[in-house]
Amino acid sequence: MKSELHLSSAGEPHIVEVKIIKDARGTLGIIEGLKEVGFDFRRIYFMTDLACASNRGGHAHKRLKQCFVVMRGAVTIKLEGLGRVHEFRLENCDKALVVPAGYWRDLYDFSEDCLIAVLASDYYEEDDYIRDYAEFLAYSMPSAVNRVPYIDLGRHVSDMRADLQAAVDRTFDSGTFIGGSLVEEFETSFARYSEAEKAVGVANGYDALELTLRAWNICAGDEVIVPAHTFVATALAVARTGASPVLVDVEQDTAVIDVSKVEAAITPKTKAIIPVHLYGHPVDMDPLMAIAERHGLWVLEDAAQAHGARYKGRRCGSLGHAAAFSFYPTKNLGAFGDGGGVTSNDAALVAKVKQLGNYGASRKYHHNDLGINSRLDPMQAALLSVTLKRLDAWNGRRDELARRYLDGLHGIEGLRLPAVRNWAEPVWHVFAIQVLDGRRVDLEAWLQAASIGTNIHYPLPIHHQKCFAYLGYDPKGFPIAENLAQTVLSLPLDALHSDAEIDYVIEKTCDFFRR
Ligand SMILES: *Cc1c(COP(=O)(O)O)cnc(C)c1O
Repeated sequence: MKSELHLSSAGEPHIVEVKIIKDARGTLGIIEGLKEVGFDFRRIYFMTDLACASNRGGHAHKRLKQCFVVMRGAVTIKLEGLGRVHEFRLENCDKALVVPAGYWRDLYDFSEDCLIAVLASDYYEEDDYIRDYAEFLAYSMPSAVNRVPYIDLGRHVSDMRADLQAAVDRTFDSGTFIGGSLVEEFETSFARYSEAEKAVGVANGYDALELTLRAWNICAGDEVIVPAHTFVATALAVARTGASPVLVDVEQDTAVIDVSKVEAAITPKTKAIIPVHLYGHPVDMDPLMAIAERHGLWVLEDAAQAHGARYKGRRCGSLGHAAAFSFYPTKNLGAFGDGGGVTSNDAALVAKVKQLGNYGASRKYHHNDLGINSRLDPMQAALLSVTLKRLDAWNGRRDELARRYLDGLHGIEGLRLPAVRNWAEPVWHVFAIQVLDGRRVDLEAWLQAASIGTNIHYPLPIHHQKCFAYLGYDPKGFPIAENLAQTVLSLPLDALHSDAEIDYVIEKTCDFFRR
């Protein structure tokens, strides 16, 4: 199997950049980028005078980490570890291969002039070697899965530690800890990613919602339409402007707002609609925008769970008049702390949100509005620039795992799987199954007994939240939201879950329904 790794990892072989300068006088092999290699080298050796047809390698190391730098010529390196095989063709270029401990390596197909430098993390030690392949297999096979965390952020860190560390260093080196070019850099690339004209960073997803509503002058006496089934922030942001969140029920199979019920909720006080692309599945935006246009309403996408999702080919975040994003650590695009952002094609709106999040200042110490302090800091922005580069690959991996669930859990009585509209490319922030017949609590306990982490998004619908009691919602007015609160159960789904982990969840879930 030829594989080119997209996800570099402390635990997996990966390619790093090195500098090799060539000119008429010869090759100057400079090995830089120690940080990217991820370890210090104690021992360096060279491989040269290799016969083209020879093989080298044929062993693994228990502790030693190595980095292969092909300074001249070419070689194929096959690595095997953790039940996976990777094959790399390295040519004299500016790339080197980092091989963590625990990988069986075979080197072959040397070019005639091949010269390889090997950087090793430690001195030679005979008992570090595994020279017997069968012994290696026993040593390296991943132990059978017997637990699956709902999400493990430690894996995210391990997967990109060197890049994250470099981002932290960049921030320190910049000497700027509020605002500045690292924030601007991220804002520009996130706007481009979301296919919107502009983006601005704020302190969190909640502020992204509230500040946008405030920028539109939404206040007491106004009404804003929100789905009855969502995270509380959507409705809370409306309520905290003084306006009233008006609820609309959701669709049973996708759990997002039922656009066919929106128009009936519009009154002369309505100013805006907040569609939530819940679980990463886009709302049917074309008919929603048509309704908004007919009634002269703003549309603010709550895209906190939908970074990268597409609706009819277009990215969430570019579909309404503005969109609010959260970079909470477990979101598809997560920071390492709080963070949020607003995207829009309306540059004036984005400027207004930025101003409101910076004490309402038009320029330093001149305050036009009653603003607040809500800024994305450069440390988080620099870290987000690292995660943003991986977002498409990670969303792709989420999609693979979601399909695995959809196949593996297909056709079980008493279980409803999430639907995907034919115009939607969801990003599976959450994989929420619906457990019918009042059995959710039993399945939850069953999976917990099998050491599988689950979550409920969300157990109490907006109209039953105590904080909104003053709004006097009809307790029976939103039956589907009510039903979802009783039936949804989110299974583990993260880009860094293995196939085997998801298979284990599928197996245990099937066992439950087979009993
Ligand atoms: C996470 C989330 C928010 C709020 O984001 P924070 O960054 O936690 O403030 C808002 N809406 C939805 C749908 C969310 O999932």
